[in-house]
Amino acid sequence: MTATTSAKNLSFILEGIHQVKFEDRPIPELKNEHDVIINVHYTGICGSDVHYWEHGSIGSFVVKDPMVLGHESAGIIKKVGSAVQSLKVGDRVAMEPGIACRRCEPCKSGKYNLCVNMAFAATPPYDGTLAKYYVLPEDFCYKLPEQISLQEGALMEPLSVAVHIVKQASVSPGQTVVVFGAGPVGLLCCAVATAFGASQVIAVDIQQSRLDFAKEYATTSTFMPSKVSALENAERLKKENDLGFGADVAIDASGAEPSVHTGIHVLRNGGTYVQGGMGRSEIQFPIMAACSKELTLKGSFRYGSGDYKLAVGLVSSGKVDVKKLITGTVKFEEAEQAFKEVKAGKGIKTLITGIHE
Ligand SMILES: [Zn+2]
Ligand SMILES: [Zn+2]
Repeated sequence: MTATTSAKNLSFILEGIHQVKFEDRPIPELKNEHDVIINVHYTGICGSDVHYWEHGSIGSFVVKDPMVLGHESAGIIKKVGSAVQSLKVGDRVAMEPGIACRRCEPCKSGKYNLCVNMAFAATPPYDGTLAKYYVLPEDFCYKLPEQISLQEGALMEPLSVAVHIVKQASVSPGQTVVVFGAGPVGLLCCAVATAFGASQVIAVDIQQSRLDFAKEYATTSTFMPSKVSALENAERLKKENDLGFGADVAIDASGAEPSVHTGIHVLRNGGTYVQGGMGRSEIQFPIMAACSKELTLKGSFRYGSGDYKLAVGLVSSGKVDVKKLITGTVKFEEAEQAFKEVKAGKGIKTLITGIHE
């Protein structure tokens, strides 16, 4: 079927590698009295969406049946269940796209991002948000204050990823933070670390254009690694930025092996390293340095309690600017174009306009 706005619930579907189509699916129904139906207005595309489009899988998640793509969305409430209290029809919301079971051990301990029964948008077998309508429980929708547009609302998803990473790193006022990778999540980590009071935030990337943007956006300085050992790059990074014995915090938002190595070497004794980027599943690792410097090493996965709320707060208070990251918007009918642009590394964040009611 071709893209047509007369469809009831036009959806953008991945069938196989580089095989996408538009399909008119039934309008979703409220699954229980706490659910709401949202008319999706804007959806950002990120590396994981492009990875499914290119490879049909990420690690053990394999697309077996046709799946709706997209998970970075904001929209307007169309319908509310009978028990919904905090939202009404017409409210503008950022949509948190992963529904936890609320019953398993991680859920009960407050880490619902680690839920063993997670139903996450556009992670097989769960459909994503690139449809006219999407259903979520009320408490996974975050009302946008007047000063936040729906376009910016779509950026609450990658911003929540960054909030979670910076919280994992326990960044506190006066600290020095090095962020590897100046893509959307890396840039947002720089902005959140600054908002948390870091005195120095240094962005590292191998593309000069990204560093130029990062410099203007939310860093105190930038660093381009040279083709020398990770140890040598770390030494130069420390020297150029007066980091003395090393940085307090290193965040990897690149997933690249040399960044991981440099991140470990750039830290001071007792520093904290957080892995946010997803690259190859196995790499070599400077385990001796991690041990002898007694580093705190942490992973970071999606977002959990309070992260979306804080993301909305950081933008509404003007502490983080997400508008600057939106570099293009395409029509719903041209959704595939957005994937091609992300793949080609064009712009920073491309949004797909939903089918507005
Ligand atoms: Zn994403
Ligand atoms: Zn759970």
